[in-house]
Amino acid sequence: MTHVHARATDGPEARFRDIVIERRDPRPKDVLIAVEFSGICHSDLHHVANDYNKTVYPFVPGHEVAGVVTAVGSEVSKYKVGDRVGVGCMVDSCRECEACKAGWHQFCFKGYTNTQNGIDKDGNRVDGGYAESIVVDEDYVVRIPDSLPMAEAAPLMCAGATMWSVMTHWNVGPGKRVCVLGFGGVGHIGVQIAHKLGARVTVLDLSLDKQEDGFRLGADEYRSTLDPELFTELAKSFDLIVCTVPVNIDYDAYAGLLAYNGTLVLLAIPSKPLTMNVGSLIVNRRSVAGTLIAGIPETQAMLDFCGEHDVKAQVEIIDADYIDEAYDRVMKGDVKFRFVIDASTFDKS
Ligand SMILES: [Zn+2]
Ligand SMILES: [Zn+2]
Repeated sequence: MTHVHARATDGPEARFRDIVIERRDPRPKDVLIAVEFSGICHSDLHHVANDYNKTVYPFVPGHEVAGVVTAVGSEVSKYKVGDRVGVGCMVDSCRECEACKAGWHQFCFKGYTNTQNGIDKDGNRVDGGYAESIVVDEDYVVRIPDSLPMAEAAPLMCAGATMWSVMTHWNVGPGKRVCVLGFGGVGHIGVQIAHKLGARVTVLDLSLDKQEDGFRLGADEYRSTLDPELFTELAKSFDLIVCTVPVNIDYDAYAGLLAYNGTLVLLAIPSKPLTMNVGSLIVNRRSVAGTLIAGIPETQAMLDFCGEHDVKAQVEIIDADYIDEAYDRVMKGDVKFRFVIDASTFDKS
């Protein structure tokens, strides 16, 4: 057992504080990872706020971890000390169900073990990645290519994995017209992946404030959703719309932007149920779908692709003491595009 510094909240309204947590000694298949950077994902804020009614405090968030292996268990075969690795949203799953065997661990029939706010198979609480180190079974660890800087790689572990899973499942590539709705932490990585896969990419966002960033990262077109001409000018023009915004939108209007066989993929959960006219779907054989994160093989494929094609999260590196302010800014959408915590600042002593 090792004791490491981390950051935790004691409740939805509490500020983050220094906490010392226990990490288990590596089991035969475990790797001990010294965390270098830990991303702040929007879903961390939901867990802190107990929006899913399962947060146990003190709560250590974090599921976008980039670090270096510092010890390995006796049966570890994939990693050695010094390797650059990442940990995303899960640290385990049943490994036996059809989904796990197919590599779709995110859909494990028994539910995967969350990296933050999770309960492992032994009934122990799992503390997240806002910490100096983390211990994870090697089967749920991925390799970060040397060409990716660690800070810029950390957010790929959730946001990048999610977008990669969407783009590959829906066969994004040359000749495909992709729309990314919402240009934030997830959207800005989606734009890069879709562009590097060869698709034509349109960004739709409320404002044009980040238009220059959009073009820089590979968008071919960047429009405001407040533009009254938008829904007529872009009617039936996309094969895929990826919605990253966690608010209810006019689903019929956005379905109208889909070409035949087009799909509207929803990644964020708005507060109200989805309602739409079936007529918006049967015209052009359109689909509405939802998906979340990615399995381990997809996550590794994503990192390899990002390393090869220079896809990186745009990050603002912060100290651990800045987490509360960072959360306030994430709430306001005031970040370009992801905060990552410098893990060397977790130790206050
Ligand atoms: Zn996330
Ligand atoms: Zn499973």
